[in-house]
Amino acid sequence: MKIVEVIFDIPIERSFQYLALDNINNFVRVCAPLGEKDRIGFVIETKEMKEKKTEFKWIKKVYDTQPLITDEIFKLSKIISRKYYTSIGQIIFYIIGNFPYKYEKNFQREKKEKSNFLFQNFKKEIFLFDNKEEKNKFYFQLISKTDGSLIFIFPEISILEDFYNQVIKKTDKRVLKYYGEIKKKERLNNYLETLNRSNLVILGTRISIFLPLSDLNLVVIDSYVEPSYREKKQPKYDSIEVAEERCKLRNIPMVLTSYSISVKEYFETKNKKAFLFDKRNFEKIPEILIIDKKWEEMDKKLDFLTKLSSSLIEETILKGNKVGIIHNRKGSAKTFKCENCGHVLRCKICNSYLVLIEKNKLICKYCKVVEDSEKKCSKCGSKKIIERIVGIEKIYTLLKNTYPDFKIQKITAEERKIEKDIDIFVGTNLMKNIVDKFNFGLIIFPHADSFLNIPEYNSEEIFFLIINEFIWRLQNKNSKIIIQTKNPNFEIFLSLKNKNFELFYENEIKTRETVDYPPFSEIILIEVPIKKSRTFEEKIKILNDIIRKSFSETLFYDRVKDKKGKEKIKIVLKVKEKNRPVFEEVMGLREKLDFKIEVNPLVF
Ligand SMILES: [Zn+2]
Ligand SMILES: [Zn+2]
Repeated sequence: MKIVEVIFDIPIERSFQYLALDNINNFVRVCAPLGEKDRIGFVIETKEMKEKKTEFKWIKKVYDTQPLITDEIFKLSKIISRKYYTSIGQIIFYIIGNFPYKYEKNFQREKKEKSNFLFQNFKKEIFLFDNKEEKNKFYFQLISKTDGSLIFIFPEISILEDFYNQVIKKTDKRVLKYYGEIKKKERLNNYLETLNRSNLVILGTRISIFLPLSDLNLVVIDSYVEPSYREKKQPKYDSIEVAEERCKLRNIPMVLTSYSISVKEYFETKNKKAFLFDKRNFEKIPEILIIDKKWEEMDKKLDFLTKLSSSLIEETILKGNKVGIIHNRKGSAKTFKCENCGHVLRCKICNSYLVLIEKNKLICKYCKVVEDSEKKCSKCGSKKIIERIVGIEKIYTLLKNTYPDFKIQKITAEERKIEKDIDIFVGTNLMKNIVDKFNFGLIIFPHADSFLNIPEYNSEEIFFLIINEFIWRLQNKNSKIIIQTKNPNFEIFLSLKNKNFELFYENEIKTRETVDYPPFSEIILIEVPIKKSRTFEEKIKILNDIIRKSFSETLFYDRVKDKKGKEKIKIVLKVKEKNRPVFEEVMGLREKLDFKIEVNPLVF
């Protein structure tokens, strides 16, 4: 008889003890009573029973004969659990959760040789490419010169499938696909293959970073700045960070590729924590025109465009090339700025400009301080201080009415199917996925400021990365990118105009350092659903004590209503990594108080 420690798919960081037969393995799925129900659990430890313990219940069923994960993956799960305040149970079940219980392996298990171990070191390398062909060539080289297994992670399945079709012709190694959408049986089979065989090339989405390959020697993350690398459900992890932890654990290199580098990694390259290999050719950059909306004459019919922009649209289409108009809002929105003198309201704490979040409410995107907006400009007295910005729908209608002879189509998350012979595409930045498929002659951002007018501290970075996707994906060397703005002197626009991208990064890092935002700190978001119980206030007090002890700065603390109208307490903390709230205390409180916690959320 044995005593086994079992964890479950629950947000509580605790294991439970059961009795089991002697032949039970570690890291297998079992059925065990928990509370009043039987639940699927996962064995994390087995011990010989020295004295009879009759108070323990018996394991009811064992599903696997072989361990489903390796020690390394268990170690990684522990690290990730602490990093994101998630229970190990939730992480393990995220990895193996929906595998079928009955299965056969339809491959030959191979004898493992240890020869695939290489004396490597952890290294984080970022490669920037300006075209797919060169990037793929680089990937093929990595495959041929790396001993043992590799994992390639892609942001989207279509890109993965595309690469799969090419790579199977180029390598003798076995290539396996791994992502959530493949059939459960096939997925489990591929998973078991990674557990039992070596010299594999894995093409997967973010979940494949957890595959239990024991001869893994390289991890490559394609287009690493894509937001899809952030898991949106529990455990809410960042694949790049998980990959980094795993590569450090194994002491192997990791390679990130992209069209442009993010602020965090730029900062790391400055500190020699990452190494940059910029393969882009800056001679190939299309012309970037920054147009000042305050001074340029606007088109009378298409009032969201300057006259220059609309005449370039006509010229481009007459030449037989395509036009893309990119905007970030479907419906209309408003921004705050004096139209007469250009005065913007600034935050009293950090002096950054304020963003209009709803009618008459302004917010500082760094301090999260909300202020009432004034009715007139405090500098010149003008009442024209709020600009109405039209959304994609309206832009589309205006274009259709003005150009009845041109074929115009919308590209949004809902409307992706592309029709034939389109002249003008109007849509969100999803359009980046088609700019290398057609001959675009002109890309216009009619309201660049509305990308910056979102209350997130990294709105400049997000917009800079979006523009870069267009800059480098455009095929036609003579094409133009027009950015219409009322703030042409912002560093982001100056750096684009002068093709001096360092200027943008250096300025952004300076700002983040001044206001102490990532990468100089972490953001932690906590959301507690409000319960009407006697002990609720007591539990909130414990939470507040944990927060106080952590030396974090509270950016936001208030009762808010979610979309369904349910009330919750929302807390946003800014904290130095070394001062984070203590893991054990946070997880301990979670047993009593049900709350959500997220580290460095995309939106908060
Ligand atoms: Zn004014
Ligand atoms: Zn501020």
